[in-house]
Amino acid sequence: MCAENGLVCGMGLLVVGGLAAAAEPGRLAMECLHGATWRFGGALGERIQANTARWLLVAPKNNPGLLDMFAKRDKGPKPNLVPWAGEFVGKYLISGVQAMRMSDDPRLRETLAAVVNRLGELQAEDGYLGPWPKAERLLGHWDLWGHYHVMFGLLLWHEHTGDEKALIACRRMADLICNTYLDTKRRVLDAGSHEMNMSVIHGLALLYHKTKEPRYLRMAEEIVKDFEHAGDYFRTGLAGVEFFRTPRPRWESLHAVQGLAELYLITGDERFRRAFLHHWASIRRFDMRNTGGFSSGEQATGNPYADSPIETCCVIAWQAVMMDALRLTGDPAIADDIELATFNAIAGAQHPSGEWCTYDTPMNGKRVPSHVAINFQARPDTPHLNCCSVNGPRGFGALSEWAVMSRGSGLAVNFYGPMQLQTKLADGTAVTLKQEGDYPIGDSTKLTVDLSKPHAFPLALRIPAWSAKTEVLLNGKAVPGVKAGTYLELAREWRSGDAVTLRFDMALRHEVGDVEQYGKASFYRGPLLLAHDEQMAKGQGKFRPWLLMDVPVPGGPTLKLCDFASAGANGGPYRSWLPATGLRPPAPVPWLPADGARVPPGAIRFSFRKPAPAAVGGASLPREPVGGASLPRDTRRHTVAISDAPDFARAILSYGEAAKPPLILPASEATKLKPNTPYYWKLVARNANGATESLAPHKHFVVDPTLPPAPDVPETQYGERPKDSAIVIAPLKGDPKPEWGQLKTADGWKAAPGPDGKPNGSVELDGQAGRITYALTEFPDRDFTVAIWVCVNALPKTQYGQVFSAWCKGMDDPLRLVVHVARHSVAEKDSRPGGAAHEGKLHARIEAGQFFGTDGWPVEVGKWVHVATVKEGAKLTLYINGQAHSTAKVPESVASSAEDFALGGNPHFGGPEFLSCRLADLRFFARALSADEAREASAHWTAKQ
Ligand SMILES: [Zn+2]
Repeated sequence: MCAENGLVCGMGLLVVGGLAAAAEPGRLAMECLHGATWRFGGALGERIQANTARWLLVAPKNNPGLLDMFAKRDKGPKPNLVPWAGEFVGKYLISGVQAMRMSDDPRLRETLAAVVNRLGELQAEDGYLGPWPKAERLLGHWDLWGHYHVMFGLLLWHEHTGDEKALIACRRMADLICNTYLDTKRRVLDAGSHEMNMSVIHGLALLYHKTKEPRYLRMAEEIVKDFEHAGDYFRTGLAGVEFFRTPRPRWESLHAVQGLAELYLITGDERFRRAFLHHWASIRRFDMRNTGGFSSGEQATGNPYADSPIETCCVIAWQAVMMDALRLTGDPAIADDIELATFNAIAGAQHPSGEWCTYDTPMNGKRVPSHVAINFQARPDTPHLNCCSVNGPRGFGALSEWAVMSRGSGLAVNFYGPMQLQTKLADGTAVTLKQEGDYPIGDSTKLTVDLSKPHAFPLALRIPAWSAKTEVLLNGKAVPGVKAGTYLELAREWRSGDAVTLRFDMALRHEVGDVEQYGKASFYRGPLLLAHDEQMAKGQGKFRPWLLMDVPVPGGPTLKLCDFASAGANGGPYRSWLPATGLRPPAPVPWLPADGARVPPGAIRFSFRKPAPAAVGGASLPREPVGGASLPRDTRRHTVAISDAPDFARAILSYGEAAKPPLILPASEATKLKPNTPYYWKLVARNANGATESLAPHKHFVVDPTLPPAPDVPETQYGERPKDSAIVIAPLKGDPKPEWGQLKTADGWKAAPGPDGKPNGSVELDGQAGRITYALTEFPDRDFTVAIWVCVNALPKTQYGQVFSAWCKGMDDPLRLVVHVARHSVAEKDSRPGGAAHEGKLHARIEAGQFFGTDGWPVEVGKWVHVATVKEGAKLTLYINGQAHSTAKVPESVASSAEDFALGGNPHFGGPEFLSCRLADLRFFARALSADEAREASAHWTAKQ
């Protein structure tokens, strides 16, 4: 156990918080080396030096607003800043201190010392250290988020230099946070921008480690309570909700989730560890890109194949989460992932010049400097500052935290490549580790140990899972028992000059794409992802790749590929997903039952990420970009394997042949499972070319005989009725109960006459709280139809009133039939016959990252009308009384997180979107009705006006 670990242990006993403090504090499997000196050579070493010379040393003087924005906060006009501008100096400082551990350049220390000293001068009397006016301190913007980054930066500076003033400044910031939000009428939740501002929990927990100040821990605990009203990270983590399905799956949330890991270390409460590790594993399963990076349009979506932006800040946050997961578990697979992210997503985000990094480092595309791509963040005195430019350098700085870590009484080597480390073992013995060679361009590294006198300690060497055959020589003699995907522990008495040579298996590997990348593969050599960049392949341009090699693509030509980090460095386009044929299936991704779920006895429904529509015959087959030939139809089939051991040492059963989800384990098979016993499950996808298994860590479930039997959901993807694809059929004849489907809630309704005027022919919703919700297995992603009779009683007083809405979170509403009230100018009003103050139009709309929708149909209050909307691939049509009214172009496929929908209001949004109306005859199908069918649906009632 390292010194830092011991410190944490000591503090665990002093917990005075409201949470049940366990007797034992949390345990770490590995920890960062504190006070170590690092030097890196080779390809990454050059990048680290370029970052220091061309960014860290020059950014403050080229961007004086970095600090001036704090000086100006209460002078002159209202600050013209992006809401997060206060973070810039904190992010800069974090990567600056990390770089100091890896550099002996005196100018770096001087530059940073000047920044820290000026920061100290700019701190207000009350401890405030942000860019906003006095009346607004910590109350809004992303001000707490900014304070989190500045506190973290000052804390690292204090740890590295021993500067007590920095720690005092940090404490004063935390004191102001407590004075504002602890035992006052305000809560951190009230500051808004929740995923950002609640992330200060991580800074408070770190500062508690350092200071033992009980108020900081109590403040952190209060933020855990606030989670329940915003990101809900703790409860969703314990419930096994996939991160992309949590209420706030944006990347900033990852720093709030880091707070859970620190709370585990402080309190020893295992629930914090479990919730944190669940979210880490969920992102690994569902959202990790082929580059090792994370995010799709700044958040988790459950689909790592989309050509959406991969933001540098998101990769940095993901790397931080992975490092915490590695500290907690010591799982070498995580170190493999960090290596992958470092050599590809992170090195790819930084331009080889060291002058800039990207906002987006796409899998296929171009590298654009962040000060160009997101220049809306720039100001005249901060031309190069934006969230990513100041954050990206942390990706390399993190090497000083994960490359070699303490592990028990010894060390774990996670990083390979030319480097030198001077550190101390837990017992205080000084050790120098040196690596030589040109890994990962070459295939081997030579690690030498240097000690003042012989000393026994265990040295653990990461054997990457991707290196099928690794040779390890200790002082020239082969070491037996080397196993991929483990740490090879060499426990012995080490002497100066002892050398270990590792030779890795650099055979070309590939990963298979799915969804948007179906029919394509990504190629790897060692930890390096390869990409095709025409300029690099032809030897054009100033910047040369680390590696250029001829790769035979399955079913295709031989291509000249370069390392992903260098791709695009000369400005040209590149691709890392390349068309290929004869591929085995992509790795399947298990979804439900949720990790740790208790399931009732009987049949068990297993779901997993849907394969590309083309893979299961659900859509037209895509054409290859080159040649135009149709891809062969995939024949993949999925099997579930169940074991009572997480490593699948004993197989209990294996079942299934499902092309797409769900895979139902029949009750006759499920009886082989003992009640109240954890069972682990994984999926195996097979086709004619081979088999692929789902990624570890594997989920588990327990059969709970006390639970009522599961509702009888048919073995169809959306729980739809096999004969007609109906998802919900609710006649609404004076009763919300459906004939098919599952009612969740019904409020503010009464029975009312229907379109034919007869009593009990509809339900009436009051426009105040009236709302009926129905459960969904999932919302159909491609084709569907919703048809319903509607009579609007009164236009909504607010802007929107929902006939139908499946809204589940910002920019995720796979369908809404909404009455939108547009307010007109006086002149416009006067020109209208009747002079209506406003009018309502009924639209069919989709919110999926952006808005899509049909033109509106003018609502006539008090009149029954039949409304049907049909989505067929990329076309959304609105029918009124059986006639097509308008169509809109929409995304062919929409991956929504909706698990229910509402009539008469928005099922989840807090704002008032209720509609006073009568509704009858709801029909919701998982298929596109034809125009004739839509007409027919409107015909069976003669509407009485
Ligand atoms: Zn950013």
